[in-house]
Amino acid sequence: MIYMNIPILQAADACGIMYERNTGRAEVRAKCPFCNDSQPRLYLNTDKNVFHCQRCKKSGNSITLYAERNGISNAAAYRELAEAAVFDCPPLPLYNRIEPETAIKPLEERSRIYGDFLRMLELAPKHRLNLQNRGLSDKAIEANLYRSVPKKYGKLYSKVMYELSCKYDLSGVPGFYRKNGQWHMVTPEGFFIPVRDAQGRIQGLQVRLDDSRKQKYKWFSSNGYPDGTKCAAFLHVVNWKTGAKPFITEGALKADTACSLMEQDACFIALPGVGSTKGLEQLMRGLDISEAAEAFDMDKETNPAVELSVQKFYRLMEEIGVNVQPLRWNPMYKGIDDMLLAGKESEGLAA
Ligand SMILES: [Zn+2]
Repeated sequence: MIYMNIPILQAADACGIMYERNTGRAEVRAKCPFCNDSQPRLYLNTDKNVFHCQRCKKSGNSITLYAERNGISNAAAYRELAEAAVFDCPPLPLYNRIEPETAIKPLEERSRIYGDFLRMLELAPKHRLNLQNRGLSDKAIEANLYRSVPKKYGKLYSKVMYELSCKYDLSGVPGFYRKNGQWHMVTPEGFFIPVRDAQGRIQGLQVRLDDSRKQKYKWFSSNGYPDGTKCAAFLHVVNWKTGAKPFITEGALKADTACSLMEQDACFIALPGVGSTKGLEQLMRGLDISEAAEAFDMDKETNPAVELSVQKFYRLMEEIGVNVQPLRWNPMYKGIDDMLLAGKESEGLAA
């Protein structure tokens, strides 16, 4: 007898296993039904039609997966799957099942929920020190609502999740997800940085990570979690006033810091990264901005990739008719915040 090769995703479908939207890789991640994992750590290999769970170590092929889940013999499992494959089902497109993606809540609601959420949290002394060392005043630290991410399942975590989920429906709010009927949040170690629009509303949260060896910042996002929501990369506006000539820089915390360090009443717009101009045109048109100062990090003069991104930015500004003044400073100081802080410190020394 010649055995048909049963695609692993077809077996997974027949078992009702949820698997991830895939980017075209041979390995598809799913939630393991054997150990009831909440994270997708079951790997379905679509080349070899085998599966393996990294958590409970269960492994096998399409047939044994179906047999075990249905409590039948391998022979019976094969018959059922092969019959379904031949007679019942039109050929399944690969990666056909998509985790339902929750639509993000409107800005107004998100801002209210995030604001309340942050006010329930605390700022750990090490995070306050981190912010002070950057040159942020205590007044700015308080006004900007920086808060430490609470420890998973700790006292504060439980209290905040309880109070917040009693008060609000957290579906559609990036960072939160539901497990066994209860709301939870993702907890990367670090502190929250609210990312705001021109009216000061909190669009989303970034986390400055404690362990910044691989990555410094991460969006507070629950994409891929049950009832989770993806966070977009938002532009950040600081201290907007009609008719202002904003400084354009990269990174929300840098913009907050530079604004706090400036003597004059300045407005900042921060791109999530120097190459991320998504939404910038709309924002600048909406605010009727005709003049801006470009204050990207000084590696724009030494790093060719950054240079290209900066050129792209200038082209966009030209297209939308914004007059841009380029700012340059001693490249010893990478960011405008570093340069301003150094200036402040030398003033302190002189005084
Ligand atoms: Zn498992």
